[in-house]
Amino acid sequence: MGRGVTGLILKAMRADDYVFTVLGAEAVSEHYHRVRFDGGEFLQRNPWFPTMWVRLWIPKSGTATTDEDAGDLAQRGYTIIEPEGSEFTIEFAIHDGPAPRWALDAAPGDRIAATMMGADLTIPEHPAPSEYILVGDAASIPAINSILGTAAVPCRVFLEYQHDGERDLPVHADHVTWIARENRGAALVSAVLAAGLPSDAFLFVVAETRATREITRTAKRDLGLAKDRIKSQAYWLDRG
Ligand SMILES: Cc1cc2nc3c(=O)[nH]c(=O)nc-3n(C[C@H](O)[C@H](O)[C@H](O)COP(=O)(O)OP(=O)(O)OC[C@H]3O[C@@H](n4cnc5c(N)ncnc54)[C@H](O)[C@@H]3O)c2cc1C
Repeated sequence: MGRGVTGLILKAMRADDYVFTVLGAEAVSEHYHRVRFDGGEFLQRNPWFPTMWVRLWIPKSGTATTDEDAGDLAQRGYTIIEPEGSEFTIEFAIHDGPAPRWALDAAPGDRIAATMMGADLTIPEHPAPSEYILVGDAASIPAINSILGTAAVPCRVFLEYQHDGERDLPVHADHVTWIARENRGAALVSAVLAAGLPSDAFLFVVAETRATREITRTAKRDLGLAKDRIKSQAYWLDRG
C-alpha cells in the first residue's frame, strides 16, 4: 500500500511533497481532459517555468478520492500549465491507464498527493539557438505549448497522433507537422530526421520512449548537436 519503494527513495532524496485539491474538470475531447487545481503553497515555493512538471501519486485503482494517500499509489509525471496565484491546470491525454481514469473521475474537493523533484529546463544562451525543434505527442502538448508561449526564436513542431481528433487540440504554433503513430513511433522518427536538425538548434524531444531515444541518439551521434542543445525525456512507455 502507499507509495512503495519509489516513495521511499524520493523521501530519502528530500523531495518536496504537496497536496493538490481539484477545483473543476472539463472534457476537451473524448481523448483529452483538463483538471484545475489549487496547489496550496506549491507555486509559491516552486516558481513556474515552461515545461514544469510534478510527480502525481495516482491511486492504482484510478478512482479519485478525498484522501490524498488512499490505497496503492503509482507515480506519474504531469505538466503544470496556466499558473495563477495558487491555481493551475493539468491536461490529461486519455488512454487506458490509472492516471487518465483518475482524471476522468476527479470532482471538486478531491485531493491528490504530488512530489516536486527533477523538473528543469535550461536552454543554452551563448550562442542562442537558431530555432527550437519541439517533438512530442498529445501527452507533451502542455509542455510544448509552454515553450511556444515564451520562445523568442522560430519553432518547428512535430507531433505524433493516435486519434484523428488530436489534430484539433490547441497547439500555439503557426504550423505543426502531424504524424500518425505507426510502427511503434518509427514514422515520427523518420519525419523529424528527414526535416533536418541543424547543429545550432535546440531540440526538445519528449515523445514515447523508443522514438525519444532514437531521435536523441541520431541528433547527438550523427548530426552533431551538443548535449546542452538537447532536452530529451521519454514521457511514456508503449506497453502494447
Ligand atoms: C515530465 C513528464 C511530463 C508529463 N506530462 C504529461 C501531461 O501534462 N499530460 C499527459 O497526458 N501526460 C503527461 N506525461 C505522460 C504520462 O506521465 C504518461 O503517459 C503516464 O504513463 C500515464 O500514466 P498511466 O497511469 O495512464 O498509464 P501507465 O500505467 O503508465 O500505462 C498504462 C497503459 O497506457 C499506455 N500509455 C501510457 N501513456 C500513454 C500515452 N501518453 N498515450 C498512449 N498510451 C499510453 C501504456 O503503454 C500502457 O499500456 C508526462 C510524462 C513526463 C515524464
